Amino acid sequence: MRIIVAPDPVLRQKCSSVTPEELPKLTKKAKQMAKLMYKSEGCGLAAPQVGIAKRLIVIDTNTPKEGEKFEPNPTFLVNPVLSRLSDEKDTCSEGCLSIPGISIDIERATELELDALDLDGNEVHIEASGFAARALQHELDHLDGITMFEHLDPISRIEKLQEFEQAKAAGAKPGDTGTTSNAGDTGTTKSSSAAGVAAPSTSAAAPSDSTAGMVVPSGTCTTNTSPQITAHGKDSS
Ligand SMILES: [Zn+2]
Repeated sequence: MRIIVAPDPVLRQKCSSVTPEELPKLTKKAKQMAKLMYKSEGCGLAAPQVGIAKRLIVIDTNTPKEGEKFEPNPTFLVNPVLSRLSDEKDTCSEGCLSIPGISIDIERATELELDALDLDGNEVHIEASGFAARALQHELDHLDGITMFEHLDPISRIEKLQEFEQAKAAGAKPGDTGTTSNAGDTGTTKSSSAAGVAAPSTSAAAPSDSTAGMVVPSGTCTTNTSPQITAHGKDSS
């Protein structure tokens, strides 16, 4: 299993729902996805990013407190469906494991709720805010074939695509974001605040013009200060 890097048709595809018959088979893949996510210092990964066009994501936006060791605690969501997006939004710089070497400012709702299944097929209700809400929206986009580029106006998109081509030519790998301050599924926010985990190197992805590769988050980035994800089991009775 490896991370698919843009451009690849699977990243632009609307993924199909996981059927009850498929779920047991996907469980092993889901665990592999989590391993790959941690290895790549990501905080989220969607199945299409590993070439599986199914509605399955894994996310872990837990941020250890100063001095605490990072304990993996992945949340697997199957067939997630948004039930609420807050009107309140903020804009923050995001990275993507499938778009290494660059970051893009994206406006997202600051809170959301969704319903999904866990890997055992149990219904779960998720409430998320801040960084977790942003990361979930990023991963849900992947399930509908939407990458960070699709959030841009046509001119910014061309600029970012050029920047991405330069970053790839410079050897950018999944996990590189070209900046140390962002969210999205690359998880550099988590990495840089996690004790003992070095922030990913930006040198490999830096274009020759040293300022061109820096992405400064616009707006107040509350997504970094209030990571919260709450899962409730649903009563089937
Ligand atoms: Zn992504």
